Amino acid sequence: MARLGEFEFIERFLRPRAALGQPFYASPLALGIGDDAALLPPLAEGEQLAISTDMLVEGRHYLADTDPFCLGHKALAVNLSDLAAMGARPLGFTLSMALRRIDTAWIEPFLDGMLGLARQAGCPLIGGDTTGLPSDNAECMSVTVLGSVPVGRALRRDGMVEGDHVWVSGALGDPAYAVRRRMPDPRLDMPQPRLELGLALRGVAHAAIDVSDGLSAEMMHLLQSSSARNPESPPLQAILEWTALPLGAGLIKALEEGHLRDGEARVMAAAGGDDYELLFSAAPDSAVVVRELGQRLGVSMTCIGHIGRRPIGGDAIVWRDGSGRPVDAATTGEMKHGGFRHF
Ligand code: ADP
Ligand code: MG
Repeated sequence: MARLGEFEFIERFLRPRAALGQPFYASPLALGIGDDAALLPPLAEGEQLAISTDMLVEGRHYLADTDPFCLGHKALAVNLSDLAAMGARPLGFTLSMALRRIDTAWIEPFLDGMLGLARQAGCPLIGGDTTGLPSDNAECMSVTVLGSVPVGRALRRDGMVEGDHVWVSGALGDPAYAVRRRMPDPRLDMPQPRLELGLALRGVAHAAIDVSDGLSAEMMHLLQSSSARNPESPPLQAILEWTALPLGAGLIKALEEGHLRDGEARVMAAAGGDDYELLFSAAPDSAVVVRELGQRLGVSMTCIGHIGRRPIGGDAIVWRDGSGRPVDAATTGEMKHGGFRHF
């Protein structure tokens, strides 16, 4: 198996691939891989920088035998999904890796997966760091994405207000079902960040978040952030429709074939994770605009409930069934503390 030194890896391997098809590398004002620091061209007038970082640790977020092409794609995709959720346009990203060795048979497909998505998203790799690991420790990598958003127009988590409708893009739960069956799933292995949707939601969504750890966990984040913004008022409550949850095609098929019960499928959609859809709130009179932009982008948009005030002793999230009654606690109980735990 061919081995590379760090310098050779960067100069012969990384630099030319990173530049492939990226206008950034042709810009006279920009500087990518190869110097002591990267230089971005000046931001457009009235824009501010959005920055997000995610770290992936072998054995925790992926396995040593994870397909390297998918891993490369996903490591960038989850970061781009954060930019999407902020309504930011990608500018570029850095990649830092602590590796046992630079193994070309692994790194080539890894970079192909990552840089393929980078080209598609117009988000060039502009720098990073590469280091060896002492002994046989777990490998890890960190991606930092930089984006641009008009000043004051980012889609934050804390902008939700009473009366808002709650929306989610696409369909949910297929990645969670694939994990349970230990089966591959294109959306689990190669998530597609909703970048265009994030841009289209600027000025429409009051608050937004991407669904990485499960819809109900992300809903909690929106509620906490938005409630904390108005500490004098009672906290916000989300009243969500159990039967409105948009189920993924895999879940629907499993229901039809009798492999799953309805409640199980909905718990996966509500708490599964790895969906990388956008969960957001908007004023009720924006409903037409939300549906229209969904149609234009070819993404289904589902209104799954609304935001109210939380009564004393009430839950932050209330799930209602088709007839308006609370969904039985045994069904939703599994999701009370839903979401992927990092520790
Ligand atoms: P320095 O000693 O200044 O940290 P390095 O030798 O670490 O420089 O890196 C040389 C160049 O290669 C820098 O421009 C750095 O951003 C880039 N680089 C190193 N590793 C990576 C990586 N994994 N991905 C992208 N760029 C990298
Ligand atoms: Mg370095």
